[in-house]
Formats: sequence, structure tokens, C-alpha cells
Amino acid sequence: MKNLLIVGNGEAFSEECNTSFLLQSADSSILIDCGYQVPPRLWAGDLHQNIDLVLLTHHHADHSFGVVPLLVRYLEEKRTRPLKIWGPAGTETFIKSLLEHGYPGVSKYFKYTIEFAEFGALDSKKYGDVSIRCAPTVHSIPNLLYRLDFDGRSFSISGDGKLTPEAVELIQGVELHLQEVYELNNNIPSHYSFSEVLQLAQSDVAASVGVTHMCRNEISVITETYDKLVRENEIEKDKLFITRSGQTFEF
Ligand SMILES: [Zn+2]
Ligand SMILES: [Zn+2]
Repeated sequence: MKNLLIVGNGEAFSEECNTSFLLQSADSSILIDCGYQVPPRLWAGDLHQNIDLVLLTHHHADHSFGVVPLLVRYLEEKRTRPLKIWGPAGTETFIKSLLEHGYPGVSKYFKYTIEFAEFGALDSKKYGDVSIRCAPTVHSIPNLLYRLDFDGRSFSISGDGKLTPEAVELIQGVELHLQEVYELNNNIPSHYSFSEVLQLAQSDVAASVGVTHMCRNEISVITETYDKLVRENEIEKDKLFITRSGQTFEF
């Protein structure tokens, strides 16, 4: 049995915690994205202890700058178990440089090893009983959407950006797809919109679609639009919903 926790569902510059997810099983967790607002949320619940894999969708600060404090607190807590950090091409160089800028020379004191691995645009890797597959989205920098399958269960996480045909194909049949939605209308080429996610949910590509990463100035209008669509039976609540921080899903 696994539990997926929404650590945060915010965008880069909002009061909400950055969008991040924690897939928890009995003795090992996978953290998906780790922006600068994320580590305190993990530390507060002691949720960081079981993390063995940090999976990054892309290298924007609201998805990755929390890795440095996470790593240094592990040093202070005398962590010895290895930590995997997986992400798109360039992840190893990027994280090493981030760490060296933040705390020069600190990594030589680490008592744990960091095992980096990088995904190609359409790639797959296995982590224990979890199969992880990816597809690119259209964002201002390279971003990977991930699909995770285990025990006949499945979910997917978009990271940021517009879905490509390959990404839509990859999420076919998932139980839950968590999609970044920045604005109500389709104005920005590097972000998904509510009008697009509505179409996606209505296309039945996934059993259920959850909205994350809404622009702080668009939350009210997206929520009002969504509530109206539900009231008028244009969309079922199970098919499309707006996520909240702290929400969990059992698999
Ligand atoms: Zn973002
Ligand atoms: Zn981004």
C-alpha cells in the first residue's frame, strides 16, 4: 500500500507551498519536486527521514532549490543511507553546482552518497517495485512529466508546461493525473490552462485529474469557473478537481 501526499500545490511566488508530492510506503518514500518552500513542510512532519529518491521534473527554483537545504540537514542528522536524485538531463551538474554555491565544500562532510541518474525525453527507470516513465512537456526549460506504475496502480505528475502528444499518450489510463494549470485561459505558451485541463478531463484520458500550481492571481476565477461547471453538471467532481495542500490519495 502506498500513500501519495500533496506536500504543496502552489506556484513559484505564492504564499502556498511550491507544488511537490511525496509517495510514501512503509519504509521508503519518493519526493517529486523540491522547491524552496518544501523542506520545512517535510521537516515539520519528520517526513524527510524515509526519502530515498528525489525525482525532479525540471530545474526551475520552485521545483528544485529546496534540494540544497534538504541535503545539508541530512548531513546534520548524520544520514548514512544513500540518496538517489533523478531528473532530466543535466541534473547531476545542476545539483552539484547549486550545493557548491549554497554551501561551498559542504559535500565532503556528507556520510551518505548521492546517486544521480538522468532521464532522456522518452525514457523509463525502475525504482524498487515502481516503474517510472517520462515524456516531455512544453515549458520554458526542459520539463518531464512522470508516470509511476506499481502493483497494478498508477498516477502521473505533469511538472510544468503544456502537454505534448507523447505526454498525453503516456498518461492514458492512469487512475490519477496531477496537472499544472497556471491560468484560466490559454494565454501562456509554456503553461497549461484551465480550459485545456477541462478538455483533458472530459477526454477520459485519466480516470481523475487534479489541478495544481495555479497562479496566485487566478485561483479565485479558476475556482469559481470550476464550481459553476460542477453545479451545471458540465464536469463530474471525480473527473476533475482542484487539489489542496495536505491532500492524500491511497494506492
Ligand atoms: Zn513551477
Ligand atoms: Zn517551471
